[in-house]
Amino acid sequence: MNIELARRDLSVVWHPCSQMKDHEQLPLLPIRKASGVWLEDYAGNRYLDAISSWWVNLFGHCHPHITQALQTQAATLEHVLLAGCTHRPIVELSERLVKLAPSGLTRCFYADSGSAAIEIALKMSFHYWRNVGQPRKQRFVTLTNSYHGETLGALSVGSVDLFKEIYRPLLLDVYTAPSPDCFDREPNESWEDCSRRRFQAMRELLEKNAHEISAVIIEPLVQCAGNMRMYHPVYLTLLRELCTRLNIHLIADEIAVGFGRTGTVFACEQGGITPDFLCLSKGITGGYLPLSVVLTTSDVYSAFYDDYVNRTAFLHSHSYSGNPLAAATALATLDLLEAPATKIRNRELEERLRRATAPLNDHPNVAELRQTGLIVAAEFVASRTTRMPFPWTQRRGLRAYQHALTRGVLLRPLGNVLYIMPPYVIKPEEVDFLATVMAECLDIACA
Ligand SMILES: *Cc1c(COP(=O)(O)O)cnc(C)c1O
Repeated sequence: MNIELARRDLSVVWHPCSQMKDHEQLPLLPIRKASGVWLEDYAGNRYLDAISSWWVNLFGHCHPHITQALQTQAATLEHVLLAGCTHRPIVELSERLVKLAPSGLTRCFYADSGSAAIEIALKMSFHYWRNVGQPRKQRFVTLTNSYHGETLGALSVGSVDLFKEIYRPLLLDVYTAPSPDCFDREPNESWEDCSRRRFQAMRELLEKNAHEISAVIIEPLVQCAGNMRMYHPVYLTLLRELCTRLNIHLIADEIAVGFGRTGTVFACEQGGITPDFLCLSKGITGGYLPLSVVLTTSDVYSAFYDDYVNRTAFLHSHSYSGNPLAAATALATLDLLEAPATKIRNRELEERLRRATAPLNDHPNVAELRQTGLIVAAEFVASRTTRMPFPWTQRRGLRAYQHALTRGVLLRPLGNVLYIMPPYVIKPEEVDFLATVMAECLDIACA
């Protein structure tokens, strides 16, 4: 069945983020079912989902509590348009998100993917400045190595060339400031000093161009798609102060890092900040259904609130905005996230990840082993002393991917970065097993 399905797939499906020709050599992985951290193929082989199926899964696959909530909701109300109508799941979800988010974020606008949430935040920020009589504020500022999704607006404010370069003629013109990412910090420089130093360039850019800047968009603490590069929370604090002083919006894209990945519910908490827009998706439904939300402030909301004829309304919509099934799975996910035991278990998991992966630091090709909360990444290079990377054309990460599969682990390295971001329900001994497999993968990738 594995082979049969793969054959049928390759004659009709076009897979995301893939060169389809690779699959002449590289077998697809057909998955029949899943439970907890384990995926199972049609031959009964099991694979530990070490990357939470692209970072969406928080509490394991087919979690009984979320599945139950989905089934109940499906038998009650599957969908109704959110313009003019409302329903219990979306009201309750909005109340709970407002309570959970950094204080001051009081409004929820829904969509169905992370990219759509980014488009909404960009449009709302731009439109806000029109509504308050500052129409020249039209431009966005992003960080190098950032990723915010694939639609044209989201791609414009990202800066990973692999995804962006070819489409450049179609994209918005944005300002780009150097990432506070600490991989290239000076010898003996702390993460904090490095992030503070990089902030200078952002300060100069914003001070010079504030009159035409609508918003700065960042991924707080971890640039996930940008090879899991990490930085110090002080950058968030400094950036928030500066944006407030210069009258510029701050958009926090916590689509990947939200809901506990960095060790706090939201990464922004670690900088003690409230952004003007908080974009959430991925883990919000525990990995069950597509849902995203943009939380914003009453200040932003009020700028759109007026008589209809004044044409200040935000006339943006998606067909599935506020879908009740997605909202029900999000509520069930929040039940699990907010359970007191989860906080304790996640702190233990963070420590276990640290201890189990510590030996990778001694690998002769590992330039940096880094961790923020429940995300661990090992960046491997050709030479540890010069930090010279392996040429990308050698695709060494692919070797790691293939080896991991033979060991019953699903990894998907980003370039020359091997990382794990497991569901929170992973057991301590499974963490140790993952670390062992990572070590083998590094040997094989760097051989
Ligand atoms: C995945 C991701 C997005 C895009 O979300 P999609 O649901 O894939 O459109 C945006 N920003 C960040 C930080 C992401 O990790």
